[in-house]
Amino acid sequence: MSPLFPALAAASDAPALRFGDRMVSYAELRATAGALAGRLAGHQRVAVWATPSLETAVATVAALLAGVPAVPVNPGSGQRELAHIVGDSAPSLVLAPAGARLPPAFAGTARLDVTTEPPATAPAGPPAEPAPEATALVVYTSGTTGPPKGVLLPRRAVAATLDALGETWGWTGADVVVHALPLFHVHGLVLGVLGPLRHGGTAHHVGRFSPEAVAGALAGGGTVLFGVPTMYHRLAEAAARDAAVAAALAGARLLVSGSAPLPLPDHERILAATGRRVVERYGMTETLMNTSVPAGADAAATGTVGVPLPGVALRLVDESGRVIEGADGETVGEIQVRGPNLFTGYLNRPEATAAAFDGDWFRTGDMATRDAAGRYRIVGRGSTDLIKSGGYRIGAGEIENVLLAHPGVAEAAVTAAPDPDLGERIIAWIVPRDGTSPPSARELTEHVASQLAAHKRPREVRFRAALPRNDMGKILKRELV
Ligand code: ATP
Ligand code: MG
Repeated sequence: MSPLFPALAAASDAPALRFGDRMVSYAELRATAGALAGRLAGHQRVAVWATPSLETAVATVAALLAGVPAVPVNPGSGQRELAHIVGDSAPSLVLAPAGARLPPAFAGTARLDVTTEPPATAPAGPPAEPAPEATALVVYTSGTTGPPKGVLLPRRAVAATLDALGETWGWTGADVVVHALPLFHVHGLVLGVLGPLRHGGTAHHVGRFSPEAVAGALAGGGTVLFGVPTMYHRLAEAAARDAAVAAALAGARLLVSGSAPLPLPDHERILAATGRRVVERYGMTETLMNTSVPAGADAAATGTVGVPLPGVALRLVDESGRVIEGADGETVGEIQVRGPNLFTGYLNRPEATAAAFDGDWFRTGDMATRDAAGRYRIVGRGSTDLIKSGGYRIGAGEIENVLLAHPGVAEAAVTAAPDPDLGERIIAWIVPRDGTSPPSARELTEHVASQLAAHKRPREVRFRAALPRNDMGKILKRELV
């Protein structure tokens, strides 16, 4: 396989990574990561203490150069999660920034400090390029629906997904990708760090997310923004009151959202404030990226996750396992994916791996419709977002979008509870907007009934001060009981 990062070989003075005010050129990255790679030989698997830092990027590139699988670990994990991930992945070494305190879960693991100082002596050239099927990364899923699973990602999946995004988004070495994403999931690490490196451009991590920090980075030369919906929500609010934020977003070449659905009201508010449409892409740890709205698409694509990426095949499958042939924009089925972007299996979980595949098709568990233009619209997860009530199959997301459009609603989630008459009953969880008098349950159910069919009206409304979310801002519906 050709090198994952062709631009590293050229070793130019062009900026590869920027974290806050710290910058590393391609020449420096080659020297530091190359030296570190030399010290990883013989290890079976290494953990990376994935703080949002240059060190995490350097450690990951080093492991990729050495051909040793890297396991990014969330430094904000609780002791239980850490014990699960360290126990499951059994790394023989943990790479961490000098001075970082490691938790007791790593007590039995050797440690190697990562520095970004280039070595005094030039390292030997990189070892031979590993085979395409060799595991590059072991990334744990977000744990939205259950305990995180370790996903084995081969080098060819990383290369395939980044190249497909390159084609779809016109992503080149001229791009500076701005983000504030965590580096222990594929969004921040594979797309936000390895992506710019594969294309020969720059990754600019702004540190802790704020609309102002993102706007500053875009105004200072950033061309592309990657974010999760909670970030775009805050950008939408900031852009409405702060002309500098609106102008910075308007000046970017591409605004991309992923990891969870971006509610329609946020799409609309960003468009109103900036004249720009946010592009949604759909992926997951197991498959990396599957679909995207192409750069520059029109209004019809808003609210969809676009079309399959080059080289990726998608199909919709109904409850009885039959492939849905039509493209009517209405029939809901499970998305299944096939392509070079797929993982090779779950670590230590042969049964879960076998259950996740139908032949070479991966069952995503996400439910969607497909329209005549081939665009997919995600209805939600089959396990939590597809409600069976009164003989209907109802997507939670559609109701959530309507609730979020109500001026008294800041956050909304829709779940189902067992019901003797209906099978399942629709429940709306609402965080009222600050500074307004909270809407009544009745006002909200009537608001939904005025926009959607009667059977989509919530039977119950429960008010909360906040919704439980994970570190990607995903709503943890299993905790809403
Ligand atoms: P776990 O598998 O542990 O329950 P998770 O599925 O949230 O957690 P990830 O692999 O990080 O872990 O997330 C992938 C999921 O995120 C997808 O299956 C899908 O449900 C959701 N997702 C990603 N992008 C989008 C998007 N643009 N719109 C809607 N949902 C999305
Ligand atoms: Mg999942």
